[in-house]
Amino acid sequence: MRKICFLTLLIITFNLNAQKIFTNKSDIFYQIAPLYDFKQSVVNLTFDDGFDIQFTVGIPMLKKRNLPATFYVITDRVDSVAKSVIFHNLTKDFEIGSHTVTHPNLIKIGNDEAIKELVNSKLYLEQYFGVNAGLTMSYPWGLYDISIEKIVKNNYLAARSTAEGYNSIFTADRFALKMQSFNDKTKASTANSWIDFAIKNQLWLVEMLHGINNIGFSPIDSSVLAEHLDYIKNVDDKIWCSTVCNVIKYIDESKNAKIECEVCNDTVFKIRVNDFMDDSIYNQPLSLKIKVPDNWDSIWISNATQVKTEYYNTNKFILFNALPDNQLITIKPGLVSDVEINHGIRLVYLSSNPFFDNIRLTLEAFDQCDVDIALYDMNGRSVIHQKEKNLQGLIDLFFDTSGIGKGIYILRLNSNDGYLIIKKLIKI
Ligand SMILES: [Zn+2]
Repeated sequence: MRKICFLTLLIITFNLNAQKIFTNKSDIFYQIAPLYDFKQSVVNLTFDDGFDIQFTVGIPMLKKRNLPATFYVITDRVDSVAKSVIFHNLTKDFEIGSHTVTHPNLIKIGNDEAIKELVNSKLYLEQYFGVNAGLTMSYPWGLYDISIEKIVKNNYLAARSTAEGYNSIFTADRFALKMQSFNDKTKASTANSWIDFAIKNQLWLVEMLHGINNIGFSPIDSSVLAEHLDYIKNVDDKIWCSTVCNVIKYIDESKNAKIECEVCNDTVFKIRVNDFMDDSIYNQPLSLKIKVPDNWDSIWISNATQVKTEYYNTNKFILFNALPDNQLITIKPGLVSDVEINHGIRLVYLSSNPFFDNIRLTLEAFDQCDVDIALYDMNGRSVIHQKEKNLQGLIDLFFDTSGIGKGIYILRLNSNDGYLIIKKLIKI
């Protein structure tokens, strides 16, 4: 009887938040937040047409504030400047999407040409920037019809239109994402009010930008952009600033994710979060909330970040972010100071697997250490070998792999304090 009341109470609490609840046979109550980091709204900054100034001026402004953005490039017009800047800034924070090969009116050119424009631009982006590029696109001039949308659906995860408006987090039409557009007269206060509206109404805002500082179509002044980016940064506890593809990934992973309990009792939870999707693409962490025993005063967790606890009525929950990659997550009472993940090295991000002409990876070194990085072919011959000294914190590493042949490789990261990471990679 007590259990039934408890369950009813929980469901009521969660329904008020319009979130999902799942149970499994171990009676572990958990939910996946509708958006990353338990935010209620989301914004994407999208830059169209790939003007160089977006990379030379835009990217440094974004990086300074740690804000992500999506760049929809016309692949025939990606010059060496753009290529180089994109190449060296390619992380999960900067999405490179397609704006077709030549920016035609897709409705007018016929289906065969439209397929070429949409498929070849995607292939180009994948080839140069890895499998996380070319996942979403924006329609040139915002022009498309049902048959174009069908081709897009077969090749992309989402597409941005030029229709003005906001999107629902729960029921957005992902192949016709609405947007708010900047032009040369847009004031920062106007753009900031879009952010306020999205936060207030729990919406998904996509902003469309083109040129900057008199260069490119509809250019905005960099001072307007700076003021707007500062505003977003100021309210980023309420709005998730992300890329278009990472929002789509979050939505799809959370729909597919299941939590399984390996051991769940009064003293420890050992759980796995798995979305059963390709981890080289679906690499967006999910935000989870799990009920823990009330008497767990302080909580220790492995393989998760941004941990905090919250109470709903008298029920205690732990909130955390974790990759849905089926790793074992241990949650138990204990002090945060003895978290074992705070030692050694950890692979935070791998640009793509399979890879093409480059590998980018982000490594986290918890203690200062030297790391030996090597890529071996299947005969055990090292094709890349690099030593990094005095690493500490988050480090981005970049390897040019254009000179090596297709096939299976083993990436081996070895720290001088004895930590070892081994990953199988495929070059295609
Ligand atoms: Zn365009």
